[in-house]
Amino acid sequence: DVTEPCTFDALHRRVCDASRGARIHTGMSLAQLADLLDPGHAPDSHPIFQTMFVFQDGPLPGGGPFLAPSGDGNGPGCDLSLFIRDEGERWHGAFVYNAELFAGPTVERICGSFETLLEAIAKGGDSPLDRLPLLSRSERDKLLFELNDTARSYPEPVCLHDMFDAQVAKTPDAVAVACEGEVLSYRELAHRANRLAHALQKLGVGPEKRVGVFMERSVEMIVALYGILKAGGAYVPMDPDYPAERVAFMLEDTEVPVLLTQAHLQAMLPSHAASVLCLDTQWETVARESAEAPVSGVSADNLAYVIYTSGSTGRPKGVMNSHRGISNRLYWMQEAYDLTAEDRVLQKTPYSFDVSVWEFFWPLLFGARLVVAPPGIHKDPDALGRLIEAQSITVLHFVPSMLQLFLREDHEGRCRSLTKVICSGEALSCELRDRFFDVLDAELHNLYGPTEAAVDVTFWQCSRKDRSLIVPIGRPVANTRIHILDRYMEPVPVGVAGELHIGGVQVARGYLNRPELTRERFIPDPFGEEPGVCLYKTGDLARYLPDGQIEYLGRNDFQVKVRGLRIELGEIEAVICGHPDVLECVVAALNDASGNKKVVGYVVVTDGVTGMAAALRSFLVEKLPEFMIPSYFIQLPALPLMGNGKVDRKALPAPTTDRPEVGTLYAAPGNEVERAIAEIWQVHLGVEHVGVDGNFFEVGGGSLLLVEVANKLACTLKADLKVHHLFEYPTIRAVA
Ligand code: AMP
Repeated sequence: DVTEPCTFDALHRRVCDASRGARIHTGMSLAQLADLLDPGHAPDSHPIFQTMFVFQDGPLPGGGPFLAPSGDGNGPGCDLSLFIRDEGERWHGAFVYNAELFAGPTVERICGSFETLLEAIAKGGDSPLDRLPLLSRSERDKLLFELNDTARSYPEPVCLHDMFDAQVAKTPDAVAVACEGEVLSYRELAHRANRLAHALQKLGVGPEKRVGVFMERSVEMIVALYGILKAGGAYVPMDPDYPAERVAFMLEDTEVPVLLTQAHLQAMLPSHAASVLCLDTQWETVARESAEAPVSGVSADNLAYVIYTSGSTGRPKGVMNSHRGISNRLYWMQEAYDLTAEDRVLQKTPYSFDVSVWEFFWPLLFGARLVVAPPGIHKDPDALGRLIEAQSITVLHFVPSMLQLFLREDHEGRCRSLTKVICSGEALSCELRDRFFDVLDAELHNLYGPTEAAVDVTFWQCSRKDRSLIVPIGRPVANTRIHILDRYMEPVPVGVAGELHIGGVQVARGYLNRPELTRERFIPDPFGEEPGVCLYKTGDLARYLPDGQIEYLGRNDFQVKVRGLRIELGEIEAVICGHPDVLECVVAALNDASGNKKVVGYVVVTDGVTGMAAALRSFLVEKLPEFMIPSYFIQLPALPLMGNGKVDRKALPAPTTDRPEVGTLYAAPGNEVERAIAEIWQVHLGVEHVGVDGNFFEVGGGSLLLVEVANKLACTLKADLKVHHLFEYPTIRAVA
């Protein structure tokens, strides 16, 4: 047992004592013991242990090769055994392995690590077991340096707006942006953005000044982003769909002097001190400014954008990214994927997620066309398919869960313009990869990265022919280092899980106004040659595959992705605990019957209070974005605890398909239409009964499910039913 920290000597003594103690039982055969401990065990697997160490006088298995697949009569169903034979001066060893579980080279690596370990033990010393090395110097150097040999020099300029201007000079008359019938050439966009930049500078915007953007997807939004950068400022997206409290927090946290919006959204703004400019109704004022590019004084390390992401302590955190980081990411992307003037890139990711950053800038910095999807369309696979066809989109992004929804529609023979689909944001499964290649005739790329490192830091191109069980996240992009480290910040061997750390030019400057959190996650790089260089500690678990590609393995904390959206469960817990009737709470993300992740809130409430689901939902709607609101609430008398007092998450009950809180509302469908709607809801929500007065969002529905349900209802009922109708009429009775 090596779970408790100890030295090799201590472990050695413990093993000796245990072996000596066990010797009095040598009369007992292994078969007898196995039958006693685990009667009925499978004959081909070992009932008690899977690895074995044998120190023997007799000949080695198979006559003494160092590595032998088991099956030559020696391993009693063990996965891996090590035999050592004492031959006086020298000892010889043999690893015997189950060839269905291990490839030869894996066992060779284990063998090499074992030698390295033995050498370190033989040198003595009293370092704890888990600090003993498993990697030889050359293996360590390979992992730390060879696999990170990504240095590349990219041309000037480095600031996004300067890169754009360089492109404007090359293709002023080409179409830059198309959005719902409105089209702007590169020159027109540049002129509009320049005018806005002058107006912003007059309002005090310059380097390091943040400017809020509270807008819907539109041509004005693109003008806003480019205009802010041209003025020297950094943009901060604030989604009008977010609750006012969250927007108020962002406004306060960023201290934006100016806020850009559209007239129809102005009434939704919380109170704030910023100057507001409506880019639609107040454009006339802006239009009087010069169309020449302003001088901004901004440089590569100045802030380009701040994107907020969920924070475990109950409030979101703003990640500060520089021009240098994001321009590297875009130069790399252009080098890797070679966008041309013929390409049309779809912008559909909500701008509060960082994938949108490459969607906004990559096409326009390299001469392609940016097609801006109308608001809301990113949730509607069918409308998306039509838009791809109508606009001849060549490149677009999907988070895997949205790609899955998209591929559920019948796209056979459609969307032929697509050449590249870029996936990122959550794990891409091999099933989804295979389905993609069955349906679409395009390239599929899997990119990985957090908001804290300028969008993506590793890349992998899936191959139509390769149907292997792992879809890696690949290798680091240019000027980026990936280190997979143990808790002592030492690299782990190939095949061993560790925490993924990111180094290089794309690492963000940190979290806005959160120096402590920044110090915790952006740590000094122990392998860097220059002082002051940081590694970002991602909290992601990963391992190297034998060919040097990286496999993503999950998280080491309570951050989850639900439909590609990043959520700290702790943030939801903190907000729920703010409800006056909640005594304790824990939030989990569980897979439902169809494999979709659902957020579930478990609450212990004040005695006598019932029906908390509806109360909590309306409480949270004011504070959290829709995607963070639990689909289910389960009231418990007490949270299940482990011996150490921590919540026993494994003992939390899964939501049942016949839901008690729905039961209180249960009224059976009263006519054919209600019955038809109820059937669709039940199938999609995975519940057995939904009463006609149950609110869609309170019985497990989320915004993406809404799209599926709306489509299905429209089809089945042959009605012109749109997603927004379900927001207006959230119960079966109302829809009917
Ligand atoms: P975000 O900051 O919203 O981009 O989320 C970053 C997190 O999403 C990462 O830390 C990972 O946990 C996850 N992630 C991003 N890309 C991938 C990918 N290709 N495969 C698996 N997980 C991913």
